[in-house]
Amino acid sequence: MEKMSFELELRWNPLLREWVIVAAHRHFRPWQPKTVCPFCPGSEETKGKWNVLVLPNRFPSLVENPPPPFSSPKPPYKVERAYGICEVIVETPIHEGDLCDLSQENVRKVIDLFAERYQKLGSKSFVKYVFIFRNKGAAIGVSLHHPHSQIYAFPFIPPRIEKELRSSSEYFEKHGRCLFCDVLKAEKEDGKRIVYESRYMVAFVPYSAMWPYEIHVYPKRHVGSLPEMSEEERDDLAWVLRVVTATYNSLFDFSLPYIMVFHQIPTDDKDYGFYHMHIEFYPPHRDREKLKYAAGVEWGAGVFIYDRKPETRAEELKAACKKALMKLKNQ
Ligand code: ZN
Ligand code: ZN
Ligand code: FE
Repeated sequence: MEKMSFELELRWNPLLREWVIVAAHRHFRPWQPKTVCPFCPGSEETKGKWNVLVLPNRFPSLVENPPPPFSSPKPPYKVERAYGICEVIVETPIHEGDLCDLSQENVRKVIDLFAERYQKLGSKSFVKYVFIFRNKGAAIGVSLHHPHSQIYAFPFIPPRIEKELRSSSEYFEKHGRCLFCDVLKAEKEDGKRIVYESRYMVAFVPYSAMWPYEIHVYPKRHVGSLPEMSEEERDDLAWVLRVVTATYNSLFDFSLPYIMVFHQIPTDDKDYGFYHMHIEFYPPHRDREKLKYAAGVEWGAGVFIYDRKPETRAEELKAACKKALMKLKNQ
C-alpha cells in the first residue's frame, strides 16, 4: 500500500466540552474487504511465527507526528493536533472465532500484550490515556473479522473515564473508600446480578445497566491497571473473559456481537489511587433478532431506558453461563 497522507485534527465542542477527532482519511478505509485478510499469517505485516501480534493501525485516528490542523477556527471553537497512537492487537493466527474459542494460554498472551502496550504507550509524554477495546460483529460495525482488539493512546483523558475519575475521587474524599470496591460489595451482598464469580474476579450486570446484556468485570483486589495484576490474577482474568464471551455466545446460540472496553487509570503520572480498573461489555442485542438503539432519549437526552429488569437479564445470563461453562470445560 502506498504511503497515505493523514488529514487529522482535534476539534473542541465547546457545548459538551469534548474533543472530536476529525480523521478525514479514514473515509477511505476498506469496508469488510472480500480480498485476503491482512491479519492472517503470510501477509506483509504478519510474516514469521507468532501467537499474538501488535500492528500499527493503517487508518489511525491519532498519530505520533500529526500534521498541523487544516482548519483555523475562531473562538468559541478551538483546534489541536491529533497526537496519539492507534494499534491493532491480532489475537490469534486463526481467522475466525471469539475470545472463548482461543486457548487459555492464548488469551493470557493477549492480556500480557495489553499490559505491555499500556505501559509502553503510556510512557510517551504526549499520551495521557491508553484505551484498550474490542469490537465484535457486523452489528457493531466491525470491518475485519479476524479476531483482534484495538488500542487508542489518547493525548487527553476521554470524557467517560473523566466522569468515573471525578465520581470515584469525590467518593474517596467523602468516605475514605474506593467507590468500585463498594459497588463490588453491594453487588455481592445483593447477589442477584452476579453472572459469574471466580477466585479473583466478579462478572455482573450492573445495578443501573444501560445496555440489555451489559456485563462488568471487576478484579476483587483494588488495582488500577493490568501491570499491577499478579500472574494468577491475569490467568484468572483470561479465564473470565473466555467465560463471559462464551456466555454471550450461549445466550441465543449464535455469536453475539459486543463491545468490550478496559477502564484503567490514566498514564499522565498523577495519583489515581482511588480508581479501580475494570472491564465493561456492551452487546447491542436486546433479543435474538432485535437490537437496542441509542435513539432519541438515549442519544439526544443522554438518558438510557432499560426495558425489563436488569435482574431478569442477569438470570438469563446465569443460565447461559452454566451452558457455556460445560462447553468450555469440555474443550
Ligand atoms: Zn484472517
Ligand atoms: Zn477498589
Ligand atoms: Fe467504567
